[in-house]
Amino acid sequence: MFHTILIANRGEIACRVIRTARAMGIRTVAVHSEADASALHVEMADQAVPIGGPAPRDSYLRGDAIIKAARDSGAQAIHPGYGFLSENPDFVDAVEAAGLTFIGPSARAIRAMGLKDAAKSLMEEAGVPVVPGYHGDNQDPEHLSGAADAIGYPVLIKAVAGGGGKGMRLVERARDFRDALDSARGEAATAFGNDAVLIEKYVQKPRHIEVQVFGDGTRAVHLFERDCSLQRRHQKVIEEAPAPGMTDAMRAAMGAAAVRAAEAIGYTGAGTVEFIVDGARGLRTDGFWFMEMNTRLQVEHPVTEAITGIDLVEWQLRVAAGESLPARQDDLSINGHSFEARLYAEDVPAGFLPATGTLEHLHFAPGARIDSGVRAGDVISPWYDPMIAKIVTHGPTRVVALARLGAALEGAQIAGSVTNRDFLAALTRHAGFAAGEVDTGLIGRDLDTLTARAPAAHAVVALAALAAWGADADTPLAGFALWQPHWQRLVLHEGEIEHDCRLARLRDGAIALRIGGQEMLASHRAGAWWIDGAKQTAQACRHGAAVSVFGAQTHLFTIPDPLAVAADAGAGADVVVAPMPGLVKAVFVAAGDQVEKGARLAVLEAMKMEHTLTAGRDGTVAEVLAAAGAQVEAGAALIALQEETPDA
Ligand code: ADP
Repeated sequence: MFHTILIANRGEIACRVIRTARAMGIRTVAVHSEADASALHVEMADQAVPIGGPAPRDSYLRGDAIIKAARDSGAQAIHPGYGFLSENPDFVDAVEAAGLTFIGPSARAIRAMGLKDAAKSLMEEAGVPVVPGYHGDNQDPEHLSGAADAIGYPVLIKAVAGGGGKGMRLVERARDFRDALDSARGEAATAFGNDAVLIEKYVQKPRHIEVQVFGDGTRAVHLFERDCSLQRRHQKVIEEAPAPGMTDAMRAAMGAAAVRAAEAIGYTGAGTVEFIVDGARGLRTDGFWFMEMNTRLQVEHPVTEAITGIDLVEWQLRVAAGESLPARQDDLSINGHSFEARLYAEDVPAGFLPATGTLEHLHFAPGARIDSGVRAGDVISPWYDPMIAKIVTHGPTRVVALARLGAALEGAQIAGSVTNRDFLAALTRHAGFAAGEVDTGLIGRDLDTLTARAPAAHAVVALAALAAWGADADTPLAGFALWQPHWQRLVLHEGEIEHDCRLARLRDGAIALRIGGQEMLASHRAGAWWIDGAKQTAQACRHGAAVSVFGAQTHLFTIPDPLAVAADAGAGADVVVAPMPGLVKAVFVAAGDQVEKGARLAVLEAMKMEHTLTAGRDGTVAEVLAAAGAQVEAGAALIALQEETPDA
């Protein structure tokens, strides 16, 4: 076994590979760009080597710099993760020329599957069913449009060098063919430097079912299927294993075809054979066709790990180190069901645009496997894929695993960037998905319902107000027993909506709230807020001048000018209260002192700034309730003035 490996990647996959390597007693070397100097994968690895600027072409795509880092750090092998150089056969050649091991397939196997047209021809020869269509060399538009007529519309134009859905066009009618061809070619030329295309029969109600394979260069086994039909614009959103409705006969046929595909190219390591299935006709042994093979570890590999109990990265390392296949086909079996949701920083209402931001708050509830490459405080930068985490659940049945996924998503707390969390959570509640009726068009058909926003319930606004106010479980009641409830005003903005909130702590420690004409009573006990007797499961979190409430949906509230609002509320009052949680730095008055309106009474240090608290009116100090050095929470009474008598 290797004593040291280098991971030529970043983010969650680099962290995930490091975790297994460490568990196997293998030293790890990370590489990183300037943008990632203090990234989680750098923190986790035993050693880290800077390889260049933030743009991928200046760092993670620099094969030469990565190979040098491996040699300099004494690494014997390179794990490529996915993306970046993972399917670049020239990189594999260079790694091997440097006397290092590439943890993955041979350059020859990658080349064989690199172009969709050549791969389809190869698979046909190996007896693997392929989607009917034209994948020949003749790229003349006349010829291609003739081929489309022969196949029968609708057809799909695909870039032979394609990936990530780029250069792909659905054509419904013959007269749209030429325009679609031009635009597919243009996109393919820009994205891949290769404008060749192939034409395929467009499968109606398609399901994407892929088979995980694993080879040792001679033999291969399969680790069953994953269903990745839940897609948006050909991008996977939620994956699961096994596929809903899968029959033993179909699984055996697909598994055997995938193993034939892998063995046909002498495949080594983890790979995925992607098939398209005609969902309209149901799962039938003659109803699946090869689409392409991904010659690397796949993003969604954890669902396979969950149902097989196998660590695929461990297998990759063992086979790369020269072991033969760790298991025979008969040793492998499926246990239960698993889901993976891809949590991204993205703006769903804006059309799922990638988003950026600093993760001011990041917390996941227990109960799911979280594969993440970021921590609270990290930046989702525009340089890389905006993935925050993969949330993976497992259960004895599909129903249980899906319920766990929903709970894990609702328990995920992310502040500082918009995310697709609520959209993913809505998917877990989608009736068709819950019933296993998956096809690649599901999201598109129901996009409006899946992205609908419910207005914040009163209790949600109340939770936000409590968090903004700084109220928590063990608020000391100092001073309050002496006076009537002291109402404080707090304004919260939720987008265009303004919530005018009044809060007052009562003698028994409960908090009365008045929000938009609604009166509520909140108390904190048994680790939760109870509002009007109902336990609140949503979690509120204050970050800077904002509060997020995480429940079935995420609600973000901003606190406009928190100090001004609170200070205003104190004007004319008998009690000067701390407008926000902080440290009392100084108190300038004592009981009996005469003060004028505007006089300095105390200094509070809060949010890294000093705030002077002044008298809201002329009067006499009745009592000083806080001393310098005291830590106080928002709303704590600091200085009481003598009550104004009506004739004064
Ligand atoms: P890429 O390599 O760009 O990701 P794929 O060939 O893997 O492209 O296809 C991506 C997705 O497009 C598939 O998962 C499927 O949803 C859809 N798709 C591909 N081929 C067909 C087809 N012939 N008919 C219908 N949908 C297809």
